[in-house]
Amino acid sequence: MHQVRTTCPYCGVGCGVVADVEDATLTTVSGDQDHPANYGRLCVKGSALHETLGEGGRLTRPRVDGVEVDWTTALDTVAQRLADTRREHGSHALAAYLSGQLLTEDYYVANKLFKGFLGTPHLDTNSRLCMASAVAGYKRAFGADAVPCSYEDLEEAELVVLVGSNLAWNHPVLYQRLRTAKTRNPLMRVVVIDPRVTDSCEVADLYLGLAPGSDARLFNGLLAFMAERKRLDRVYLAGHVDGVDEALAAAAEDDCSLEAIAADCDLDPEALQTFYYWFASQLHVVTLYSQGINQSSSGTDKCNAIINCHLAGGKLGLPGAGPFSITGQPNAMGGREVGGLANQLAAHMDYDTPGALDRVRRFWSTETLTPTLPEAPGHKAFALFEAIERGEVQALWVMATNPAVSLPEANRIRAALAKCPLVIVSECMANTDLLAYADIVLPASSWAEKDGTVTNSERRISRQRGMLAPPGEARHDWWIIGQVAARLGYGEAFAYRHPGEIFDEHARLSGFENGRDAKAGFRLFDISGLAGLDREGYDALAPIQWPVNAAAPRGTARLFEDGRFATPSGRARLLPVRPRGPRQALSEARPLRLNTGRVRDQWHTMSRTGRAPRLMNHRAEPFIKVHPDDALAAGVGDAQLARLKGANGDYLGRVRVAKGQRPGEVFVPMHWTDRFSKRARMGGLLEAHLDPLSGQPESKHGAVALTPLAPAWEATLLVADDLATTSAWCEAARYWARIPLDHAERWQLAGGKAGEAPGDWLSRLRDWLPVAPTLWCDDPARGRLRAAGVADGRLCWWLMVGPPAELPGLGWLDACFAAAAKGLPLEETARRRLLAGCDAGEADSGPLVCSCHQVGQQAIVTAIHGGDTSVEALGARLACGTQCGSCIPELKSLIEEEACHARADQKLEKQTV
Ligand code: SF4
Repeated sequence: MHQVRTTCPYCGVGCGVVADVEDATLTTVSGDQDHPANYGRLCVKGSALHETLGEGGRLTRPRVDGVEVDWTTALDTVAQRLADTRREHGSHALAAYLSGQLLTEDYYVANKLFKGFLGTPHLDTNSRLCMASAVAGYKRAFGADAVPCSYEDLEEAELVVLVGSNLAWNHPVLYQRLRTAKTRNPLMRVVVIDPRVTDSCEVADLYLGLAPGSDARLFNGLLAFMAERKRLDRVYLAGHVDGVDEALAAAAEDDCSLEAIAADCDLDPEALQTFYYWFASQLHVVTLYSQGINQSSSGTDKCNAIINCHLAGGKLGLPGAGPFSITGQPNAMGGREVGGLANQLAAHMDYDTPGALDRVRRFWSTETLTPTLPEAPGHKAFALFEAIERGEVQALWVMATNPAVSLPEANRIRAALAKCPLVIVSECMANTDLLAYADIVLPASSWAEKDGTVTNSERRISRQRGMLAPPGEARHDWWIIGQVAARLGYGEAFAYRHPGEIFDEHARLSGFENGRDAKAGFRLFDISGLAGLDREGYDALAPIQWPVNAAAPRGTARLFEDGRFATPSGRARLLPVRPRGPRQALSEARPLRLNTGRVRDQWHTMSRTGRAPRLMNHRAEPFIKVHPDDALAAGVGDAQLARLKGANGDYLGRVRVAKGQRPGEVFVPMHWTDRFSKRARMGGLLEAHLDPLSGQPESKHGAVALTPLAPAWEATLLVADDLATTSAWCEAARYWARIPLDHAERWQLAGGKAGEAPGDWLSRLRDWLPVAPTLWCDDPARGRLRAAGVADGRLCWWLMVGPPAELPGLGWLDACFAAAAKGLPLEETARRRLLAGCDAGEADSGPLVCSCHQVGQQAIVTAIHGGDTSVEALGARLACGTQCGSCIPELKSLIEEEACHARADQKLEKQTV
């Protein structure tokens, strides 16, 4: 066995991972104690990484027009068709759509080929959907896309403001660091600003449940409050910041009384005043913001409203201070560094950066090429698909992302893809929604196989080290792009033998003529100190924060400590912000505000996390979170199925009634695709309203209607893996969700219309499945049925008709399927228990709370009743919450809930006495 130090491929925290590899298999993973992002911690997604691997479901051979081919044919065809398209329609008919999942080296080579050699500016990335507004906000204020803080600042702050960020679920290790820091420093305060009560509120000293979209008004109000209370740092502003008067004047255009701001944000004036007072009176403040701010049609302004307050109070460039945008994806930052956004050129140079076009041309030696570098920015993500729709872009190469699911107006995106004459997809998984639109499919390597670097949210570059050989004929993205480039005649410029050579070129470009042009000023992104590493040096590269150059050979933890910014004048800018509400309008037909986001145990479109059954257990089905009043008004109850109708489609999911949801607002997760459910793509609900500066879609502010689905029947079908390929039941169901178990597949089904007869289940089962029902038990009066199909003594399928709340814990049945997969027949006692679905005496553990130790809600509640009334006591008894800690907020809620029930019971008892 040997160990490999690498990084987690999920969120922007960028945790270090130690992987144990034995006989070409990754057996276990643990947190890297020495990695400064996580110091040994991992969340549940990170700690399940080894469970998401394996060749099953992987793409292993290239395909052209649906036919498997060898690599030579595939690469020749890609090059030929790109060249043909360019010849017939010009360079600007070519485009690429990349992903924050790519490594920096892959990104660099793709950017160099498309912009530098193919001469098209249309290369954008799915990072546009999560942090483009943060980029635009930083650039306007600081002159560079530069996150000023480190994770340590979060721990050193006296006040931490989480705004538009459910850190507990989306960046769990960082949340754990914050939680620990707060325990160590009782004076630290945390304010959570979010329309939803989320698990992050567990650490909050103050929660502000503001009206969706009112963030800019809130922070403009804070700026005005600071000015009025003489809390502006006038010395700092005079020395380092421009635009102060304009920003204050813009803030003053609205009524700046606490009452007016509170009314506009739908907040309690006293709570608002407390927040303003805390912020204004503390120097060491970190405001951490994420998609709740960025995914808005005025996201850039919201970012600047936050940055304004930090600049105005001199609250940055200090330990424990700064406006801190945290990225969603593992390498969104790396993509930003190489120029992977359509409005960037390369290495933090934009098209309008003085001298940049000439500099990049000379660096890449493309001066004599025709066409050479484009001279103006290309289409940003959504606009790129509009250009495909119009027929202007004729060839699209998508790498490591799934725009058929994640963009707004997803059905329109699918239509554009279907119309595009050439769609090339580089992908590691064999069954994403996008592949249906691909003319050419190129099998790419995946996390455990890839070698390169990533940059996390605190500008820390870490090595991701390959430890397994790619399966079949899968290849690395940088190699694939280089091979195509060579066939297009650019072999010399793409003759990389190893990602270390690409990194070296990237590092050299970052320092190339950096700071020599007085008009352009200096480029903050400079890793020239890492240029010239040999293979050993690259392999051994320790995590380091940029800039890394002659002035900072060991990297830079915090930016702007000297008050010098990356603008030509060296001064930061306060921006005048005029708050604007969401563009998607509520109406009588669609009266509810739609919020979208992530859940704790899933990642993006579930192509990887969906392979780990234990990660599916926390939230097994697509859901709709709704306030009790709205549920009542719509006639839907908790755990019932319902439909959301949006501008461009609908969404089916199970209702979760929650008091922490604001009235008038619903929440749905972003993860489900057509692979996992009948209709739960949130992209279909959203209209494409974009931030005019960043091009980021307004994904947090849809407008929807909620109605009950009201099926005639609901059923749970478990089928052995080898039968799961035939899914006739999907055709019959109005709703379905597929949930992988360890040894079988669970299908949650619903069909018919309320009031209709449920139909003849036994003949339905004969139609659906190749093995006829062997055992069944019917209760027609209650509309209940349990049945099972057994062949050669082995369990093939199991069915329960009735709501999923009546399901037993599925561990015992899954074990029966495991035995069947090994060819073992059911024992007689097991056969007798089959319709019950559980072993005699087996307690149902209820919905899963702790994914690491597979501890269910029922077990936790029982332990609480037994006297384990603290997180520590529950951990000691059941081990829940003792590994990644992501479930601790849920444990706390359960403890509180049970205490509440106990108090209510006592009161009732007294009244009865
Ligand atoms: S917090 Fe979790 S998902 Fe994010 S990088 Fe760390 S282990 Fe991975």
